Amino acid sequence: MIAAVSTIEKFKNWVEHRHQYARDWKARTGGKLLGTFCTYVPEEIAYAAGILPVRLLGSHEPQDVTEPYLFGMFCPFSRDVLAQGLKGRFNYLDGIAEAHTCMHINQAFESWSIHLPVKSFFISMPSKVQSPRSRPLLAGQLGIFKKEIEEWTGRSISDADLDRAIDIYNTNRRLMWDMYNLRKAPNPPITGQEAMFVALAQQMVDKEEHSQALRELIEELKTRKLNRDPGARLMLLGSEDDDTEFIKMVESVGATVVIDDHCTGTRYFWNEVDCVGDNRLESIANRYLDRTPCPNRDWPDRIRFPRVLQMTKDYGVQGVIMIQQKFCDPHEADMPALTAYMKKAGIPTLFLEFDATLPMGQFRVRVEAFLETIGQEDLF
Ligand code: SF4
Repeated sequence: MIAAVSTIEKFKNWVEHRHQYARDWKARTGGKLLGTFCTYVPEEIAYAAGILPVRLLGSHEPQDVTEPYLFGMFCPFSRDVLAQGLKGRFNYLDGIAEAHTCMHINQAFESWSIHLPVKSFFISMPSKVQSPRSRPLLAGQLGIFKKEIEEWTGRSISDADLDRAIDIYNTNRRLMWDMYNLRKAPNPPITGQEAMFVALAQQMVDKEEHSQALRELIEELKTRKLNRDPGARLMLLGSEDDDTEFIKMVESVGATVVIDDHCTGTRYFWNEVDCVGDNRLESIANRYLDRTPCPNRDWPDRIRFPRVLQMTKDYGVQGVIMIQQKFCDPHEADMPALTAYMKKAGIPTLFLEFDATLPMGQFRVRVEAFLETIGQEDLF
C-alpha cells in the first residue's frame, strides 16, 4: 500500500506507483480496468459501468521488444506503450480501448489486441470533426461502445449511471482548470513539474479520488509560496509528453512552465459534457468533437492555434517549447505553421524532438540558450 503523504506528493506517488494503484483499486472494488490508448476514448461510458479507465503511457526506458510488431519509424511513445504491454507491466488490465486516431498508436493497439489476452474495444472516432455529420456518426459509435461494454460487464448502463459518470468527470475537469488558473499568478504556487504529476494522475486514478485530493491541493495552493525565482514563463506544447524529468530540468535553469497544450494536459480535460436534452450519448459525442483537437483532426479550419495563442496571453507566456515525438506525423505537419503563427504573434519558440529517453545535457544547453534569447521581461 502507498504510505500517507502530503497532498502534492500524493499525485506524484500515484503516477510513480500507477501499477500498484490500479491493482489496489481492483482488489478494493472488484471492478474491471480498461487501458486507454488515446484521449478520444469516451471514458464516461466505461466509468458508468463501474470500470476504471487507465491511460497507457510508456516508461521512458530503452527497449528492444517491439521491433517484430511495430515499424522502427513509429513514434517512440507508441512503441514504448506497446513495450510495456509486451513486458507484462499492464497484465492486470481486463481490457483495452482505442478511439481511431493516428496510425502509430492505432497500430500499437492492434498489436496489443493480437498478442495479449485482453478484451479490446475500438471506437470509430471520425477524422473530420468539423463536419456536422460527425455528430450523429460519433453518437452512433458511442451507442455501439455502450452495448459492447454492457455485454462485457453483464450490467446495463442506465441514464442515471451515465449522469453520475458525466457529473464526476465534469467536476474533475473543472477542478483541473481551477488548479491551472492558479498558475496565472506572477509567482505560481505550483511548479510545472508538480502540475504535470497532477495532470498525469488524472488519467490513472479514479476521478472521485483525484477530485478529492485536487480540492485539498487547491486550498493549499491558495496560500502556498514557493521559495524560488519563477524566471521565464513557458508553455509546453506538441506531441504526447509525460516526461517529468525534462520539465524538472527546464525549471532548474531559470523558468517555470505555466501552461501546456498536450494530450497529457489541457487537451485531455479541455471541456465538459454539456447535457442538452435527453440523449446523453449525443452530449458525450459533442464533448469529444468540440475539445481542442489533436492535429490530425484540426482541419479544414485551425481550431487549436487560436486556443493555444489565447492560453499564451492568459498565462503571460514569454516563450513556447514545441515538443515533437520523433516521427510523430500529426505534430510534425503542424509545427511549421504553428511556429509561423507564434512568430507572427511575437512569441519565441524552441523546437525539440523527443525520443523515449532524452539527451538531457544537450537539451539543457538549448533551453538555456533559448531563455537567454527571450530575456526576463515582466509581462504583468
Ligand atoms: S499523435 Fe504523435 S505522439 Fe501521439 S501517438 Fe500519434 S504519432 Fe505518437
